[in-house]
Amino acid sequence: DVQLVWLRSDLRIHDNTALAAAAAKGPVIAIFLRTISQWQSHGHGANKIDFWGCGVEAVQSALNGLNIPLLHRDIEHYSEAPQALLAIAHEHSVQQLHFNYQYPLNEQRRDKAVIQAFKEADITAHGYHDAVAFAPGTLLTGKGDYYGVFTPFAKVWHKQVSVEQLALRDTPEPQTPLSIKSDKLPKLPKLDSQSVGHHEWPAGEETAGDHLARFLRFRSRHYHQQRDIPSVRGTSELSPYLALGMISHRQCMQAVMSENGGHLADGDVGLTTWVNELIWREFYQHVAVGFPEVCRYQPFQEHTKQLAWRDDDEGFQAWCEGRTGYPLVDAAMRQMVATGWMHNRLRMVTAMFLSKHLLIDWRRGEEFFMQHLVDGEFCANNGGWQWAASTGTDSAPYFRIFNPTTQSKRFDPDGEFIARWLPELSELPAKARHAPPHDMLTQVNYPTPIVDHKTARLRALEAFKALSR
Ligand code: FAD
Repeated sequence: DVQLVWLRSDLRIHDNTALAAAAAKGPVIAIFLRTISQWQSHGHGANKIDFWGCGVEAVQSALNGLNIPLLHRDIEHYSEAPQALLAIAHEHSVQQLHFNYQYPLNEQRRDKAVIQAFKEADITAHGYHDAVAFAPGTLLTGKGDYYGVFTPFAKVWHKQVSVEQLALRDTPEPQTPLSIKSDKLPKLPKLDSQSVGHHEWPAGEETAGDHLARFLRFRSRHYHQQRDIPSVRGTSELSPYLALGMISHRQCMQAVMSENGGHLADGDVGLTTWVNELIWREFYQHVAVGFPEVCRYQPFQEHTKQLAWRDDDEGFQAWCEGRTGYPLVDAAMRQMVATGWMHNRLRMVTAMFLSKHLLIDWRRGEEFFMQHLVDGEFCANNGGWQWAASTGTDSAPYFRIFNPTTQSKRFDPDGEFIARWLPELSELPAKARHAPPHDMLTQVNYPTPIVDHKTARLRALEAFKALSR
């Protein structure tokens, strides 16, 4: 009764719903379909694709420890997935297929096509809602709609979540070795861009578990105070691992409960604030299913479709390269390009700067983030961008436009983060780093601001006011 487990962004052997279900039924073989062209068409760059590859290596080695062979196939596009999987199913007389759902539209379509193809071949295919506590569509407003606002979503989430939903799935016991061997994993082909390397983000469950343990031990209790200070490592830095499922949200929630007397909503403020962030993650996955237009490059707020975004290649380039003349924005962009990761406060600041101060279409920024982020994940990235651009769920009201200099003084008071990423400003007195005065700029190679905050703010307000609702 051979069971086939199709791994995608759930690269772990612990607490994996599909793997646990398959192992309960019979001997298991696993498959990974590498789909580089399709991933690239979704905007993923070398950092994420490389991390994906390392994650597959790590999970293969963990699966080998359970005598579960991991097969590997390269396909170009999702449309080839049904054929590729059926070929394996026939070759190994597979009885059932198991996988954990992914929620962006193209992934949903691919999965539907696979289920249909397997149905036609008389092989049962099971999809599981593993990446979320609530299957999208099961947490709805009183009117039966998907939530378009986070706070009530989180409230109901807390009210309705059950012990079973957060219970860890069984880790399979080592099975009797099969005659099928794991495939040798191919090297990453040459991509257009180069990955920043693996030192910052070693892949695999073990590293993810270490990150979680360190976060809980040293940082979680101060999380609510330190999560907004980019010069401090105040957050978990688990996003790349959560995005590819090297750790699960249940493992995170269980860890919180064991530190917090069994509670998720009460108790330690640091821990409960962190739980809220994990619920944001789930919220945006529900949004992708409930409002599929967001997966089609459309704004969540329909009236913002008409917004007159500016064509400004020079401004866009300056933003990408960290040359806007706003030190906090520039430091953040350089952090992302150099490391593949950016602090959450800075994602908000830089996204708002592009979409408001430069009035450049948020989709260009969303794409640039995706190109660089090692944690690049459609639902969170799209949700974050649309929030910043005031086109999304829970949008920042369009008239609330972060002043990048004020943000800098507030969240990087000593200019520490700025000095780290803009060494040209590190010699300036700390207070001058937020907005270097003109006379100081002549001594250092740093640009003057490409827009004036007040003027740019008014321009954005006008553009939003011009929209008819
Ligand atoms: P922690 O603060 O430790 O939070 C724990 C986990 O909760 C994170 O790892 C993440 O999985 C989840 N989370 C936290 N904040 C959010 C949020 N606002 N939305 C959804 N999930 C959240 N996150 C991604 O994982 N991938 C992205 O591509 C991504 N793009 C973003 C783009 C913009 C413009 C913005 C404003 C936010 C984006 N985020 C994205 C959300 C957030 O910035 C990152 O998840 C966070 O910075 C990761 O750091 P951490 O793991 O230390 O987070």
